[in-house]
Amino acid sequence: MELKEALEQLSLLQKKMYAYNVASSSIYLDAVTVAPSDTAEGRGEALGILAGESHKLFADPAVGELLAFLREHKQELTQLQARQVEELSRSYRQLSVIPQDEYMEYAKLTNEADAVWHKAKETNDFALFCPYLEKMFAFNRKFAGYYDADKAPYDALLSEYERGLSMEYLDRFFGQVREALVPVIHAINEKEQIDDSFLHQHYPIDAQRKFSDYLMEVMGLDRTHCTIGETEHPFTLNFNNKDVRITTHYLEDNVASSMYSVIHEGGHAMYELNIDDDVQYTCLAGGVSMSIHESQSRFYENLIGRSKPFIEAIFPKMQEFFPEQLKNVTAEQFYRAVNKAELSLVRTEADELTYCLHVMIRYEIEKAVIGGKLEVRDIPAEWNRLYKEYLGVDVPDDRRGCLQDSHWSGGLIGYFPSYALGSAYGAQMLRNMEQDVEIWPSVAAGDLSPVTGWLKEKVHRFGGSLTPADVLKNACGEFDPSIYTDYLVKKYSELYQL
Ligand code: ZN
Repeated sequence: MELKEALEQLSLLQKKMYAYNVASSSIYLDAVTVAPSDTAEGRGEALGILAGESHKLFADPAVGELLAFLREHKQELTQLQARQVEELSRSYRQLSVIPQDEYMEYAKLTNEADAVWHKAKETNDFALFCPYLEKMFAFNRKFAGYYDADKAPYDALLSEYERGLSMEYLDRFFGQVREALVPVIHAINEKEQIDDSFLHQHYPIDAQRKFSDYLMEVMGLDRTHCTIGETEHPFTLNFNNKDVRITTHYLEDNVASSMYSVIHEGGHAMYELNIDDDVQYTCLAGGVSMSIHESQSRFYENLIGRSKPFIEAIFPKMQEFFPEQLKNVTAEQFYRAVNKAELSLVRTEADELTYCLHVMIRYEIEKAVIGGKLEVRDIPAEWNRLYKEYLGVDVPDDRRGCLQDSHWSGGLIGYFPSYALGSAYGAQMLRNMEQDVEIWPSVAAGDLSPVTGWLKEKVHRFGGSLTPADVLKNACGEFDPSIYTDYLVKKYSELYQL
């Protein structure tokens, strides 16, 4: 084989994989947005076939030979080609060991489990979801062995989302976070609580939709390349750097809920839209890892979106969208309300300070189930016990307990810790950004371009062309969780005059 021909085959292979991905993602998007409720079965058939075909395409021994040939010619490849070969070789090793029938069965399960989870959450019925969740954990435990039989199964799963991530690393990270933040949380409990009642008046959904459009405009999201839809659980779906979809969920009695979902998902979208053209339609397209992705979404959501300068910039306009609700409220009061630290039940609505503890609970449960120390049917009881222990709250029902997140129904086991790591990475990026550019006067004027410019230069543009560790190093230097905990301690000490 000639190198030129091999590179053409490499490019075609990746475009075909992209096409399968677009097809499955479009079906998923349809399922969670406009499809009628009892129609999962037919889509499941289609998704099963698509997953089987894409598996067949990639697990073909000819692909193994092509990648081996390219590895032999590594010296003649460009940096981008070499990275593609490296990433595809890793995926090939993993995917080719999953038997095709198991892979198809899993794709079908994921589709069914999502529909069942929706119903179970709606009706607060964990027993309905339990058998699906059992299968989901069983599959993942099995896949972990396929991915890396030498590792503990949960380490193998963690490593899927963040290369090299391990329980040892996370136990240390969460330990450090717990040690720094729990005393602050306790101190706040002794203080008079911030009044955020005005956030829970009636906020008509139509006005909230217009407000979402405004927020996307302030963020600088190009609406010709990024639309917003409505789903039970907000998410971002990227087809390529010119076609990204975000969704939100409106609550009539909580204006901050969708507001911060839009900014969070907008942060994910911004990352995708800013990735260089030259990695599109390859395996390097898209954000490099889950934690780097979360570092971006949570950057916009918290470090910018919950900062005083940002709120002062958007508040006058917000009062125009909600004149009755906010007529007697000041920007300062709004800032304090959206930063209220609370021992709460729902992760997506948690404040910056307690957020990590919500993640830590999911981490501990996944670790125990995959490690064989906890049965899936006992998850609700364990969930409630941990919420009481770390956050001091009684979980009234599974709807607001272990059924609240969509991740497990989608097979994302080992994903949650990336939210916490992403928050910590983001805080360190902010510190470095502040050393490079003066962002706050612009943010206070409603101009996020210096922020986005820095992130694009240091993080976004690379997509997967650098490893997650190199992206982080490029933007931050050595990772130091104390920058994150120091940021939180300072912010909350000021807010609550500790
Ligand atoms: Zn996110």
